[in-house]
Amino acid sequence: MAVDSFSAKARKISANIGAHYVDNARKLPWRSPPGGDLPDPYHVWLSEIMLQQTTVGAVKSYFETFTGRWPTVERLANAKQADVLAAWAGLGYYARARNLHKCAVHITEKLNGIFPQKESELLQLPGVGAYTAAAIASIAFGERAVVVDANIERLVARLFAIDTPLPRGKAEIRAAMDAITPAKGAGAFAQACMDMGATICTSKKPKCDICPVQKQCAACELGNMESFPVKPPKKVKPVRRARFFWVEQQDRILLATRPPQGMLGGMRALPDDGWAARSDGHATPPIAGDWRVHDNIVQHSFTHFSLEVDLAVYQGEKIATDMDHDIWWPLDDIAEAGLPTLYAKAVKWKLKEEK
Ligand code: SF4
Repeated sequence: MAVDSFSAKARKISANIGAHYVDNARKLPWRSPPGGDLPDPYHVWLSEIMLQQTTVGAVKSYFETFTGRWPTVERLANAKQADVLAAWAGLGYYARARNLHKCAVHITEKLNGIFPQKESELLQLPGVGAYTAAAIASIAFGERAVVVDANIERLVARLFAIDTPLPRGKAEIRAAMDAITPAKGAGAFAQACMDMGATICTSKKPKCDICPVQKQCAACELGNMESFPVKPPKKVKPVRRARFFWVEQQDRILLATRPPQGMLGGMRALPDDGWAARSDGHATPPIAGDWRVHDNIVQHSFTHFSLEVDLAVYQGEKIATDMDHDIWWPLDDIAEAGLPTLYAKAVKWKLKEEK
């Protein structure tokens, strides 16, 4: 495409998406309405961390819980990490929660509770990557930054029919987003593009008939919208096995705190074998005695592998319930334990099995 026609197309896209946003912006608890004041950077940061790998629908109630319980970054910094992790339970990707707390402490102790405003400074914060830094700088501080999340990636790849497979295609997509991002109001424009991707330019069956940039869309002209962005071939995920241990006594169950490093680090959980249980049942249980094993009661998918879980239920003699380092949690209050989804699924299975 000649440079002039590319610029003209970029200007049109920018204007049309901006105009569409005025009347069609999603109302989200962390946002300001179009044309309103810039939103609180604490809210923008918190929501953007929560939204990584997670849908808006799943995040809303967590956002409200967090801001109700810890209304400022200082209050979050003063919370116990265990409480933050427990409040995060169910959102997944728990390294985000640990970094969230670490970042709140850093801002409170090193920066007097004030968020840095520039994209380059935001990038230095724990848990803040390129996307999040650009989103906070533009949405909360009005800096011109180029924001590309998964929704924007799809929208832009289609508008310009970018057919270089991901992840190589990311550089081209970013350059195209740069070309359509206006000098002023980059944050509102990014949110407008996110909304377009979430509600109109959806991955399946995009609603091209109501799209404000249909006339500028190269994929729509080609008639193969769903083939953009071009994804790399799918890798088959390896399957790992784990064994969880269920020890119940006097209406309480035995919980453990996972090691601080590694997956689901620092979270409360059922005792387990370190996710290395062998199908021949040689995983060492936390207590010697009789165990009844239920095979493959839960399947859970992580980014790089799938996990199949066996549940071993203690059938042995009565045991002491005041052992050091163990947590005996009342079964009636198990929902308050803040178990990650994987363990919550196993608990649910066990309680249902008993009915
Ligand atoms: Fe997406 Fe269709 Fe709009 Fe193109 S015309 S941006 S494919 S919704």
